[in-house]
Amino acid sequence: MSLGEAVCTVSDALKGPAALPEEIQDMADFEASPRENEVAVAYNDTCLARSSGCFSCVERCEPEAIELIQGTGIRINQQICTGCGICQYVCPVTPKAVRMQVRTATQTPSAYHAESQQRGE
Ligand code: SF4
Ligand code: SF4
Repeated sequence: MSLGEAVCTVSDALKGPAALPEEIQDMADFEASPRENEVAVAYNDTCLARSSGCFSCVERCEPEAIELIQGTGIRINQQICTGCGICQYVCPVTPKAVRMQVRTATQTPSAYHAESQQRGE
């Protein structure tokens, strides 16, 4: 690196932090509002609850749709899930262990009730 390049590097560093990438700024503005066409789905392969005490999504889920199963991960009650997305936002792992997906016919509250009745619950 030449002296000139070094001066430029130091100068850039002194200007302060660069603007955040657009994607990160969007996440900072995240608002947990219900989305009726979306539902949270668990991907327990990467869930920290399998081996440690992560409660991030459970604590933030207002309708208490997420159940923690120690050693396994999480289970989501898709009847209660409002599709707000805060669980995906706070999940600290990559790839996310809880992800928002388009709600299908079998994930609607009425389908959930039908399945529950079949199970005798
Ligand atoms: S999307 Fe919202 S309501 Fe649904 S499980 Fe996640 S935090 Fe709970
Ligand atoms: S926040 Fe992510 S890693 Fe933590 S318990 Fe929920 S799904 Fe698992």
